[in-house]
Amino acid sequence: MDEIKVQLSDDAVRWFEQNYRYTEWDADEFARDQGWSGFDFVVGSDGEPLVVPGEYVFGHLCSHLLDASNAEAAATIMGEAAPGKASEFHGVLAYDYADEAAREATERIGASLAGYPVLNDEDFDQREREAAISTLTDCCDVPAEIAGDVAAALSDDGQSLCTDCSIWDLGRIMDRLGYRECAECDGWIKTSHDEPLHYDCAKAHEEPDCECVSRLIDTHRHNEVVTTWADVRETLRGCEYCYSQVLPYGKTA
Ligand SMILES: [Zn+2]
Ligand SMILES: [Zn+2]
Ligand SMILES: [Zn+2]
Ligand SMILES: [Zn+2]
Repeated sequence: MDEIKVQLSDDAVRWFEQNYRYTEWDADEFARDQGWSGFDFVVGSDGEPLVVPGEYVFGHLCSHLLDASNAEAAATIMGEAAPGKASEFHGVLAYDYADEAAREATERIGASLAGYPVLNDEDFDQREREAAISTLTDCCDVPAEIAGDVAAALSDDGQSLCTDCSIWDLGRIMDRLGYRECAECDGWIKTSHDEPLHYDCAKAHEEPDCECVSRLIDTHRHNEVVTTWADVRETLRGCEYCYSQVLPYGKTA
């Protein structure tokens, strides 16, 4: 009968006893593949192995980003202290338990995390900011050129950058940056006017047989002026044809 050849820590032995997917044999094989003589996990302040998350987000985005940031920072610390002595083992961070420098580095990581949950603040902040910028541009129609400013303003405003933790009050932030929400869609328009409309959104209010609204939009487009809901309403009211079309049916234009 074969036997475990690498030195497993007591913690690692306990972990494998409670794990249904992997056994000490997997650790043994993994360690020997890495050229290690021992095997243990780099653990966080809760005593559990540090998670090395994949691309897919489980649970809160903020905790996913924190895991990703801490895993990378821990791998960097390990790599500097003992090159080649730490590696991902099925989604968690493992290291060579027989290597003294590696063991000391994991103790430093554990002590650091026990005092403060983030190993590299700057890296974590950047991950949060980048994720917030993607959400702002992909889901909130915020123009890419100001998404960074909006994310910074949200932080300054005391709003969490994690959309799982808070619902952003964007109106206030965007207003301060000189943007208003389109009165028709959820997009943003650079203006200080009330109830602005994208040109295409304004066009949706055109009566089928008259081009008065189109002419208004065309003029505004050429003069690079923002069209507002008030402009459209005034134009429809001032147009003999549209006025007669709109009012008899009690439309609210
Ligand atoms: Zn969160
Ligand atoms: Zn719009
Ligand atoms: Zn034209
Ligand atoms: Zn008209």
